[in-house]
Order: sequence, then structure tokens, then C-alpha cells
Amino acid sequence: MMPPRPAYVACPRCQAVLRIWQHRGGNTFGGFRLWSDGLTESAGLAPSPLRGWRCGVCEVALWTDDLPWLDARFDDRERVVLLKAGSRRIEMIQAIRIATGLGLKATLELEAQLPAEIHAPLDRLGPLLETLRASGAEVEAYGTFPGGPARPVFQDLRELAIGDYDELLAGGAGADSARREREIDVRLEAWRRRNAPFRGGDEAWIRHFAWPEAEQANAARLFELLDVEDPDTALFKAEVARQLERWDECRDLVTPLLDGPRQQRARQFLELIRDRRPELCVLVVQPRR
Ligand SMILES: [Zn+2]
Repeated sequence: MMPPRPAYVACPRCQAVLRIWQHRGGNTFGGFRLWSDGLTESAGLAPSPLRGWRCGVCEVALWTDDLPWLDARFDDRERVVLLKAGSRRIEMIQAIRIATGLGLKATLELEAQLPAEIHAPLDRLGPLLETLRASGAEVEAYGTFPGGPARPVFQDLRELAIGDYDELLAGGAGADSARREREIDVRLEAWRRRNAPFRGGDEAWIRHFAWPEAEQANAARLFELLDVEDPDTALFKAEVARQLERWDECRDLVTPLLDGPRQQRARQFLELIRDRRPELCVLVVQPRR
């Protein structure tokens, strides 16, 4: 897995600049795995971005689609930015030279093109900031370093808790049909996120009656929303029913699929129903070739 990379968005409500971590690279499994909730994991595929987030400043729930992305200059690498020199210019130049190790000529060039970004070892940035301020200069500081900004300039966007998806949906999403599609997307995402801890194989399945109320409600609502015209959607619906241990409904959903292109999966479901197994499981494994 490659390290995540930050990107920046502006909160549509409070205008705060927020950081979002973008994951790159894929799983370490190397092959392909199909889970009973329809999630496929394949090598080199990054997890899809979440549909909703929470602003780290004003706490509003935000649709990913509605987020205004900012350009790359909004980064939070540790640095001091000199905006304007103060009255004690010699002191300022001296401080920059000590912090950065730059020669006089290079420092004067830097000063001639403001705003100037000053990068230096972390333990020197704090004293630099202090001296520049004392010299009357206008400065900004970014990132986290001793003597740096008390609060990071950027707050992180926070992941929504599963119960908070309702708040996202209450935020409105246009026409009824679009709204329904969005609701299905969001509830599927919330449902797969609650399945996530069980994909590793370490975590024992928790039966539906022990789920938090919001998770039970989400699954029940998802079951209502999914239609059965498309066999893959019917399988999602059957999986929700199976996890909720609504065995008869699950059987009624997969039985018509025995004649179609998803007959193999329908048979797997029937076996799971017969054995009264509600837990998330892997249906297909294709190892790395
Ligand atoms: Zn906000």
C-alpha cells in the first residue's frame, strides 16, 4: 500500500480548509476476492472514496460530490511564509540565514520575491518564526513544529459514523429519483463499512440483534430500497436478508436466480441459508496469477 496523500477541500458551510487523505494502491492480497455483500477486492485497486464526510470545524455532514476541491498549493508541509518585511530588516535576514543556512545573496533574493516560503529543519522553524515576528515582519506558519501554529492550519475531514449517514441524507439531494439513488448508494456504503471489520478474518461475526440500532435500521431500510429486477441487486438484497437472518425472504430472493447468469451464487446462498449461516463470507477467490 502506498502512503496516503493529502488533498484539500473547502467546507461549503464554514469555508474552512479541510484536509482529506487519499489512499493509493490496493490490497496486499494480490488476487481477486468477491465477498457475499458484493464487494470485490482486487489487486492494485484503491478503496473507493466515501460518499460522505464531516467537517472538522463546523461539524456539518458533507456530500463528497459537493466538495469544492482546492488546488495543490493548500498543503501543510512545515514551513514559515514571509509575507512582508518589518522595520528590523537586518535582524530578519540574519534569522533566515541561521535557520536555513542560505548565503546572503540567496537570502536577499528570497526577500525580493514575497511571499517567500522558508523551509528549514523543524527545530529551527520555531525560533525563526519568533524572531521574524519580533522583527515586525508579517509571517504565516504551516504544519506542526515546536513553536509553530498552536492549531494545525488544516483540520481533517472526519469519517462519518454509520448512524450519521441519516444526517447526510437529511441534507437534501435533489429530485426524488436522484434522491432514491443517492440513498441506496449511501446505505450500501454504510452497510459495507459495518461489514469491514469482518473481512480480515480475525473479528468474529456479530449477529444482527447485537448491532447498534442505527446499523439495524440502515440494513432494514436498504432491504426496502433495493429492487429485484437486476440479479446483482437481488443478491445484495438477499445478503442483507441473510445477515438479518430473514431466511425465508432470502430464499425467495435467490430461488428465481437459479435459472440465470448468477445461478452459482444463488446456490451458494441456498447452502448458507440451509446451514443458517448469517456471517459475511467470501464467495469467490481468484489467487494472483
Ligand atoms: Zn465546516
